[in-house]
Amino acid sequence: MTAGLLPFFPPDLFDADREVLLDVVREVGLAPEQRFILGEHTARFERLLGEWLVETARDGAVTSAVDVVACGSGTAALGMVLHAMGVRPDVEVVVPAFGCAPLAATVVNLGATPVFADIDPHTMVADPGEVERLVTDRTAAIVPAHLFSVMADMPRFREIAARHGVRLVEDSAVAQGAVLAGRPAGLWGDAGLFSFVQVKTFGMPGEGGVVVTQDPELGRAVRMLRNHGQDGTRRFVHHRIGYNSRFDELQAAFQLHRLPTLAARLERRARIAEYYTARFAELPGIVPPPDGRDGRAYYVYSLLATHRDELRDHLAGRGIDSHVYYPAPLPRQPAFARHAPPGRRWPHAEHAAAHTLAVPVYPHLTDAQVEHIADAVTEFARR
Ligand SMILES: *Cc1c(COP(=O)(O)O)cnc(C)c1O
Repeated sequence: MTAGLLPFFPPDLFDADREVLLDVVREVGLAPEQRFILGEHTARFERLLGEWLVETARDGAVTSAVDVVACGSGTAALGMVLHAMGVRPDVEVVVPAFGCAPLAATVVNLGATPVFADIDPHTMVADPGEVERLVTDRTAAIVPAHLFSVMADMPRFREIAARHGVRLVEDSAVAQGAVLAGRPAGLWGDAGLFSFVQVKTFGMPGEGGVVVTQDPELGRAVRMLRNHGQDGTRRFVHHRIGYNSRFDELQAAFQLHRLPTLAARLERRARIAEYYTARFAELPGIVPPPDGRDGRAYYVYSLLATHRDELRDHLAGRGIDSHVYYPAPLPRQPAFARHAPPGRRWPHAEHAAAHTLAVPVYPHLTDAQVEHIADAVTEFARR
């Protein structure tokens, strides 16, 4: 790192909560019960996250109980939901062609076939029309994913899932706190999920995630799957073949301390993003993400740039680190290429992979840093 570089992944993410972290290590570490996984803190974290989701909803949008099941990661959450839904070797699951590896890997790991849907060229989330065209009588589930700052078109995905009788899994890993038409991200499908890996908006210093569902059957199944198929009352009775995907008590205690301040951090991200979008609105060769607050959570601020690599170099020359999510569509990855039907193309996903660039949006950026980033992008566009 050169002097004065504004990193994309800040090294001081948890500085403000350093004392809290040391306190929870002491508290959990010295407690007489010596319980380090799936204990009281995890149970309380699950309960409070569920309440937080219901509080975030507009009145009437959430009518049934919300079950939150903490587990080892966002990837594990997605994999266990698909497993609990019966995804198996002879079925297909429709996933976005542009996004992170777990979208396809979880499907392949269950022996099923991922079917890749192209995306909307501006929002970069899965195109509902394209997803619907790919549904066949072998489709078990569709998995739209919210990306960067924009929620997928969940009202349409609900309609599509209902019309075709397929399960709807909402990969809301990055959209915690987003609300679309009164309903929070995570509560649109049969199940949703959040990831708490450090870079996510409710990241923590370690691995973890949750499954969120209003389907009690699914909640029970995932609770068993996360701990080797046991039901939580009797040890060494394995009702089904599961996983080791348990949640850490230290992390749960830390997240319980940080939950009350999450809204303020999300608000700061949204303010920074709104400032960028206003500054970038008329710039030649730059397309900012769609503005607004409905269905938005500013996890990553990704713009589209005609000359992306030159913009990246220009920013680096001004001491600003940026990041490309994602450099290739999923079906173009060596690991998933065998699931790409010969000759098929995903032109919008390919365009996004070639033109998207993310600039820092973390909440502890100062106003001066935010302005510096916006100035540097503006200077490039007007050069
Ligand atoms: C981060 C992420 C995941 C996986 O979460 P992990 O906790 O890193 O396993 C899944 N889906 C999306 C869209 C993500 O961004």
